[in-house]
Amino acid sequence: MAGRSVAIIGAGLAGLAAGCYGQLNGYDTRIFEQHTLPGGVVTSWKRKGYTVNCAPHFMWRAQAGEPMHRLYLDVGILPHSRMVDRLTYGFIDEPTGRRLILPRRLEEMARTLAAISPADAKQVADLIAGARAMMEADIWDLGLDKPPELSGPIDSVKTLLRTSRVLKYFGGRYAQPVTAYVREVQDPFLRRFFERLFLPSVPVWLLCMVLAMYAAGRSVLLEGSSLEMARAMESRYRALGGEIVYGATVEEVLVKDGRAAGVRLADGTTHRADAVISAADGHSTLFEMLRGCYLDPRTERRYRDWPLTSPTVSCAFGVACEFPGEPCMSIITLEDPLTVAGRPVDVVWMRLFNYSPRFAPPGKTVVQVDCETDWDWWDRVRRTDLERYRHEKNRVAEELLVRLERHYPGLACRVEMVDVATPYTVWRYTRNHRGAHMGWLPTPQALNARFARTVPGLGGFYMAGQWVMPGGGVVPSLYSGRHAVQLLCHEDGRTFVTG
Ligand SMILES: Cc1cc2nc3c(=O)[nH]c(=O)nc-3n(C[C@H](O)[C@H](O)[C@H](O)COP(=O)(O)OP(=O)(O)OC[C@H]3O[C@@H](n4cnc5c(N)ncnc54)[C@H](O)[C@@H]3O)c2cc1C
Repeated sequence: MAGRSVAIIGAGLAGLAAGCYGQLNGYDTRIFEQHTLPGGVVTSWKRKGYTVNCAPHFMWRAQAGEPMHRLYLDVGILPHSRMVDRLTYGFIDEPTGRRLILPRRLEEMARTLAAISPADAKQVADLIAGARAMMEADIWDLGLDKPPELSGPIDSVKTLLRTSRVLKYFGGRYAQPVTAYVREVQDPFLRRFFERLFLPSVPVWLLCMVLAMYAAGRSVLLEGSSLEMARAMESRYRALGGEIVYGATVEEVLVKDGRAAGVRLADGTTHRADAVISAADGHSTLFEMLRGCYLDPRTERRYRDWPLTSPTVSCAFGVACEFPGEPCMSIITLEDPLTVAGRPVDVVWMRLFNYSPRFAPPGKTVVQVDCETDWDWWDRVRRTDLERYRHEKNRVAEELLVRLERHYPGLACRVEMVDVATPYTVWRYTRNHRGAHMGWLPTPQALNARFARTVPGLGGFYMAGQWVMPGGGVVPSLYSGRHAVQLLCHEDGRTFVTG
């Protein structure tokens, strides 16, 4: 049994976590990554001395002694990646001309939001009550320590005990999507604030959770680049004896006698293993690498019908000025919509990397603006008309700059670097289906669903990553890598160990 080999597909956070836990549990693991870098969506690149960052926007802070802290240590995020408690949300609402910086303390947040529209005081109070309850309950990573397959009645009782005081905030009106909740909100600015703080599709309880994390200082920022964090994980994995093969696109999971037996790469080579963990995009895992042979009707239906997170166009500007005191994350509602890939866009998310000197040369800042867009347009145009693809990238960047200039006069003439990432860029880095960089859209239905880490009829095969953790996220993806190894240990009769 010692030294059983495991092939892991994908060196995103889930694959690297699976690799670290596999090594910690005595397996000989090897990760096959189609790109030349670790991290998947958690990545960044250099342009003219500036660092362009993809995901994540914020991390979950963990305190020494907490399970999440152990997780960060096990996978090598800690002690190398420093996190800073400097997240601030700003809202700029062009249609009403209003601006808001969201206070961090819940009492002040409640007062500020209620003052915007006294007629909506009840909706504000309900939301703050949910956020307060969640903050006090301290249940950030509840239920993530084990895969659903290994959770029994005792775990359910434990969960019930820990959530008893907040249970009511997960049901009733808190279970409906934010879009439904805001129908009762009269003030348009407040309505847009609730809808856009996260995503309009999420259940109200998740919005409460976001506010609670913000107020509790649990949402923090990486001081360095995302790629540095991914590199720290890669180093940890290698130090534990793991091996990563880059430029290795897995095309097929090999099967022998009803068990996963290794992988076949695009270059035709085959690599035998006793078990396989796919931490790659769910769609290509099930429909291409496994040729659609191991699907139950429910999973098939989900992949056919469920909405995915919308792909984005992300424009980064390297600007020769500083933005002291400005919120590092602002949501801007545009008065006149912008056209991106043929579709109107009326909201953009702006990130100012003004909280750390590590993203730009001294006295300069990266300003990054994201907006939702259409996968089909970018996919088609990139394949059929490269010139038009490039032209659209430039046009969107120019238009966005005009919009930013309204709020930061003089910014446009200080721009030294422009970098535009499209949904195709995300696909190239990660192969996520239809550029859905966070997998499933986190609707109440998706968040309540249970995704099996195994597939029917195939032994020795496990799935990890955001496609089995709807809503994705750094911590859930890391835990999902751990889940795969927990299941593997369970099947092999080993006691799962952490670092
Ligand atoms: C813009 C953005 C902002 C985000 N913000 C936050 C945030 O603020 N907080 C938060 O917690 N989370 C955030 N997230 C989500 C979080 O970063 C992701 O959910 C998580 O990193 C997903 O990790 P993963 O390993 O499951 O998937 P991925 O990162 O997609 O990794 C999959 C890996 O598999 C590889 N692969 C795919 N197919 C193959 C193949 N055939 N052969 C070999 N390798 C293959 C890919 O190249 C990739 O490296 C954000 C994500 C994005 C994109």
